[in-house]
Amino acid sequence: MAISRKVEDFMSRASWIRRMFEEGNELKARFGAENVYDFTLGNPVMEPPAELVDTLRRITAEPDEGIHRYMPNAGYPWVRDKVAAVLAEEAGVPLTGQQVVMTVGAACGLNITLKALLDPGDEVMILAPYFVEYIFYADNHGGVAKIAETDVDFLPDPAAIEAAIGPKTKVLILNSPNNPTGVVYPRALLVELAAVLERAEARIGHPIYVISDEPYRRISYGDEVVPSLSVFRNSILCTSHSKDLALPGERIGIAAVHPEADDAEALMAAMTFAIRTLGFVNAPALMQRAVADLQTVTVDVEEYRTKRDLLLGGLRDAGLHCNEPGGAFYLFPRSPVEDDVAFVRSLQEERVLAVPGSGFGRGGYFRLSYCVETEMIEKALPALRRVMERL
Ligand code: PLP
Repeated sequence: MAISRKVEDFMSRASWIRRMFEEGNELKARFGAENVYDFTLGNPVMEPPAELVDTLRRITAEPDEGIHRYMPNAGYPWVRDKVAAVLAEEAGVPLTGQQVVMTVGAACGLNITLKALLDPGDEVMILAPYFVEYIFYADNHGGVAKIAETDVDFLPDPAAIEAAIGPKTKVLILNSPNNPTGVVYPRALLVELAAVLERAEARIGHPIYVISDEPYRRISYGDEVVPSLSVFRNSILCTSHSKDLALPGERIGIAAVHPEADDAEALMAAMTFAIRTLGFVNAPALMQRAVADLQTVTVDVEEYRTKRDLLLGGLRDAGLHCNEPGGAFYLFPRSPVEDDVAFVRSLQEERVLAVPGSGFGRGGYFRLSYCVETEMIEKALPALRRVMERL
């Protein structure tokens, strides 16, 4: 076998979204794309806001000299300053461009941060259900993923986290609004978690860094999305414009180190080194320029709310149990049969594509991504009802 055994093993464990995607493509070839209701991917069908299109036009119509050249690995200093000013204001912390790295999406931010922090065998705590890539990202940099379960409402359980922290715990990854559950973590809970981490740091004798993965931070339906930098001193914010500006293919993101974090300066230097040595080199130049002045611009969140309400209402009418998520664009309903994979297969028979909860470390549930055309949701609901009637 040419490929590494570890990669082969990871590929088989992480195959759910890919498998559903491939099987969905077969169904689309057989029945026509318009007759397959694909809720598997977090790939927004919405177009970016007009402000983004206008900005890109302006930049490319009268290009500054050298706009396609390399720049410092952490990004254009003036872009980092602008981004920092918005984040500082939001979180109420004295963040400057010196603590910001422009990244190739949130995925790059997570990887450079883990690369900068981890020694072989260090533990990265991840809350289930989780974005499965965290496990691979931790492994990329010699870390070991350690899973802590969330509670029945998919909220972090401070006692479970405290119990799971050991001498090798170096990082806790948080993700709010959450993929796959859509849950937004309330401030009081985050404050409690911060106290847990402080106690644990004193017990184990070294810092535990929170990496707050927040690509959905601007997609919320009224719940306050708490800036992680305002709660956790030893923290790094990783975010992107993949979802809030609907630009996932353009790969533009941000990582920001809390200015008062332990060893903040060394951490920034290490992340800047890592973006270079992991081969990203720097975030896309044109996109850095494009998003510099769009830090508070967001796609139409009301459109997502309409889609959420339509799908959630339809699921509940069909007899499924699902919480009402406060953000992101995912629903995570309970599977009406214990075996979530079997249920997803029955949905597939009606050409509704979903991802089993097992793919996110929580069997007995399934994920529907509703960043899709509203018409598709409308067409899928009768199919969903048929599946439920057959049960
Ligand atoms: N983190 C979470 C929770 C996600 O859902 C995603 C993408 O779906 C990412 C990170 C990666 O985002 P990006 O496209 O910014 O790399």
